[in-house]
Amino acid sequence: MLSEVTIPTTCPGLFCPTSAQDGILSRIRIPGGLLNGQQCEAIATLSNQFCNDFVQVTNRANLQLRRLQANLPAEALQLLQSVTLAAPIPAVDAIRNIMSSPTAGIDARALLDTRPLVRDWNNTLMSRPDLAILSPKFSVCFDGGERVSVGDRPNDITLVAFEQEGSIRLRLFLSMGERGDAPQDVGVSVKVTEAISLLIALAEVYRDYTAQQSSSAKKPRLRDLLKDWGIERYFNTVTQKAGFSLILEVENLPQKPSLSYAHLGIHPQQQTGLAYIGVSLPLGQLQTQQLQELASLSTRYGDGTLRLTPWQTVIVPNISTSQIVQIQQQIKDLNLQTDTTHPSSAMVACSGTTGCKAALTDAQHHAQIMTAHLERCIALDTPINIHFSGCEKSCAQHRAGDITLVGAERQGTETYQVYVGNDGSKFGRVLYPLSDADALPQQIESMIRAYQQHRQSLQESFTDFVNRHAIAELQQIFDTALRQP
Ligand code: SF4
Repeated sequence: MLSEVTIPTTCPGLFCPTSAQDGILSRIRIPGGLLNGQQCEAIATLSNQFCNDFVQVTNRANLQLRRLQANLPAEALQLLQSVTLAAPIPAVDAIRNIMSSPTAGIDARALLDTRPLVRDWNNTLMSRPDLAILSPKFSVCFDGGERVSVGDRPNDITLVAFEQEGSIRLRLFLSMGERGDAPQDVGVSVKVTEAISLLIALAEVYRDYTAQQSSSAKKPRLRDLLKDWGIERYFNTVTQKAGFSLILEVENLPQKPSLSYAHLGIHPQQQTGLAYIGVSLPLGQLQTQQLQELASLSTRYGDGTLRLTPWQTVIVPNISTSQIVQIQQQIKDLNLQTDTTHPSSAMVACSGTTGCKAALTDAQHHAQIMTAHLERCIALDTPINIHFSGCEKSCAQHRAGDITLVGAERQGTETYQVYVGNDGSKFGRVLYPLSDADALPQQIESMIRAYQQHRQSLQESFTDFVNRHAIAELQQIFDTALRQP
C-alpha cells in the first residue's frame, strides 16, 4: 500500500525526496549494490521518463535520481516496489542502504558469501515499521573478507568475516568516532547464523534509546548512544534481548583498508572459467542508454545482473573468461572506461553548487574540466585519486585522496584549498591554501608530471611520494614543473 505522505527527513529517499539546487532529489536503496535485469529495466524506464536520461551511483551504492521536476508519481513508486527496489512500508525506505563488498560471492579470496546476510537483513529492516524511528543514517555493512574490502567504510555497524579454529565467524565493528571515521573493533564475534539476531537486538536497543530521546531536535546516531551509555551497558542490554552471550575476545582483528581501484578492469572469479569486469563511471553518472546496454551485455554474456559499488562504479559479473576481452571492448564503445589509470577513474566530486546550497564551488563542473584536461595532456600510468569537494563537509569521499580540492571563496572567485597525501588528518596536508579554479587543471597536470619524473619507482604511489617530502620541497618541485613549457 503506497503512502501519499511525504515523510520529513534530511536524507533523500523515494518516499521523502528532498529539494536540491538542481531540482528534486530522490534516492533508491540498492542493498549490496546488487541489481537484476528486471530492476535495471525499471530504473531505465524511470530515468528515461523523469530524470533527464541519467542516474547517479552514490558512495553507498545507492542510485540517485536528480533534477526531477516533481516528486515521483505513485505509478513510478509502485513499479519500484514491484521489483523490490522500494520498501512496502514507506516509513522505513529512507534507512541507509546496506553495504557489502561488490564482489561478494565471486571473490576468490572471500571467506563468506555475504549476499544471503544482505538479503535477510534487508527483509527484516523493510518489514519493521517500529525501526522507522531510527536515524535514517543508520547503516549496516557486511564484509566477507574479499580483496575488494568495505570493512573500513563509515558505517554504524560492520560485521567482518574471519576464520577461527577452522570455522568462519563474524566480528563486530561499531562506529564510535567522528563522522567519516572507520568503525572500530569492539572485541566481540558471533556465529554466521547468529548475525541477524544480533543485528535485530542491536537495532531494537537503539530504537528504545531513540524513543527515550524524543524531546531532542535531532534523532540520535548510534554513536551518540555509545557515547552516552558506554559500550558495556549497550552490550548488556543487547545480550539480554539476543538470548545469547557476546564472547569478548582479546586480540584485535586487523582492519583491511579498502582499495578504491581494486575492482576496476578484468578479474578472475572464484567460479572457474568466469570473470568480472569493473567499469568506472564519470562522477558516478550513468546515462540511460549505457545502463540498458550494460544490462543487455550482462544478459547476453553473463547472468543478467549488475553490481553497483561504493566507489560510484559498476561491475558486470559472471562473464565467461573466453568472452571477457570482447566485452571490455563493447563497454569502451559505450564511452565507459575500465582502466584504473584513466582520468575518469581518478575523479570524485560532490554535487557542488549545481546540486547543493552549502557548496562554495561548482565541484562537478570543475572535475569534468579536470578530467578532459588530463585526458588531453598527460598519460597517467598509475592510479591517482583526485577529490573535488564543494565545502569542508566532504560528502563524496570520507578519506583523504591523493589530491583533495576543497572549495573556498575569495571575493566572488571560485577557489580551492589544495591538499596532498595522507597524514591521518581529514584531507592530508595543505599544499596551496587558495588556488583559482581556472588555474587548477594546469597546476594538477604539472604536479602529476613532477611526480612521474621524481618518484623512486613506478611502485611509489602519488601519496607515498608526497608523504616523503616537506611541503616547501613539494611546492618547489611542483612550481618548477609548472614553469616548464
Ligand atoms: S561536500 Fe559540501 S558542497 Fe559538497 S554536497 Fe556535501 S555539503 Fe554540499
